Amino acid sequence: MQQYLTDNLYILETENYGEQLLAKNIKKIFAEFKVSEKISAGDRVLMKVNLLMGKDPSRAVSTHPAVIRAVAGEIKSLGARPVLADSPGGPFNRTALKLAYSKSGYTADAEQGLYELNYNTESFYDKLEAGQRGKSFELCSYLKDADFIINLPKLKTHGLTLYTGAVKNLFGVVPGTVKAEYHFKMPKVRDFCQLLLDIAELAAPDLTIMDAVTGMEGDGPSSGSPRDFELMLATGDIFELDLLVSWLLRGDLSYLKDPLPEAIISRFNHPGGLSAYEQYRKENFFKEEIPDWLTERFKEVSLPDIDRTANLLDKKLPDFLNRFVTRLLRPRPIFTLKCIGCGICEENCPPQVITIEQRQARAELKGCIRCFCCQELCPHEAVEIEKPLLGRLFF
Ligand code: SF4
Ligand code: SF4
Repeated sequence: MQQYLTDNLYILETENYGEQLLAKNIKKIFAEFKVSEKISAGDRVLMKVNLLMGKDPSRAVSTHPAVIRAVAGEIKSLGARPVLADSPGGPFNRTALKLAYSKSGYTADAEQGLYELNYNTESFYDKLEAGQRGKSFELCSYLKDADFIINLPKLKTHGLTLYTGAVKNLFGVVPGTVKAEYHFKMPKVRDFCQLLLDIAELAAPDLTIMDAVTGMEGDGPSSGSPRDFELMLATGDIFELDLLVSWLLRGDLSYLKDPLPEAIISRFNHPGGLSAYEQYRKENFFKEEIPDWLTERFKEVSLPDIDRTANLLDKKLPDFLNRFVTRLLRPRPIFTLKCIGCGICEENCPPQVITIEQRQARAELKGCIRCFCCQELCPHEAVEIEKPLLGRLFF
């Protein structure tokens, strides 16, 4: 099964990571999006994967190496140079990259010459006049070195934004610890999602291919459970793709209250906005066109209990009241006994409210901005997100 849902959104049933099936589907995507007309021999083609922290492919945290193999094969068949890159959380240096590449299963393929691994850890500043949460952003140099950019996200749930896909994957073009700075500067999820859209606009991928063969449900993006969606989704419009997946995850129009779709849709009306979407889509987007074979893949998908109070509270309350209500209503990180005190969360906590005592992490919740970077980056799945009783009752 394969079909276009809009002029720019192509979905293919992909049951598994079998080499031949992936090669066939990636070839089809390249043909549909006329990639051969856009890439010249010798071009450097960036494959922007989701590396996050580097985990075994069976955990469905990173873009599956079999997908990368197939994409790289197609790029090479056009005479171009595939280069895999991302900036995972934490320090952005050669040692960290080497470890993350190896854990994610990319090193062996690179050593066989199927593609190159990026080790350039320099950065540069890029300007976005129409940016809504800044006009200049620090980005990884691997981005500007590319002649053509293929965004390769993994479909996963996310404790802060509900879902991480095409737009959120592009936050990885911000170098390592600078990501924590941006989180710190944008503690409100609405602002953070607008920042994600600014970065996504600067990254401007030429093509996005989402690995949703096996994605993640539950406590994503790193501690959830693998879930077989058996899909690949390809697009030239990352915003449209993320709206579709957000809809599929919720299964109804309540997706409009989630922070990322809300941010995307609120940009439609902005004079410096990104897209020419019509306002009617706010109500009708995808309502009629989504086929049953697609919605069935998302049946009873387990979603994280994200902070749906945030949009309401951030908009309506003054800061002092907001801080008070936060304690009573908002989800908070809980450090469980799985913690071994490795200190990764402490290093990456944007407001630096985590300390390690007797090999156990703890957070001073008064200063916690609920970014859940600690949960995202803990390699031992020791951080859970807990909603206070009042929050559970009212939201
Ligand atoms: S919570 Fe996780 S990342 Fe933080 S110290 Fe414990 S094991 Fe390490
Ligand atoms: S404790 Fe966790 S959720 Fe709170 S600010 Fe630090 S990293 Fe973010």
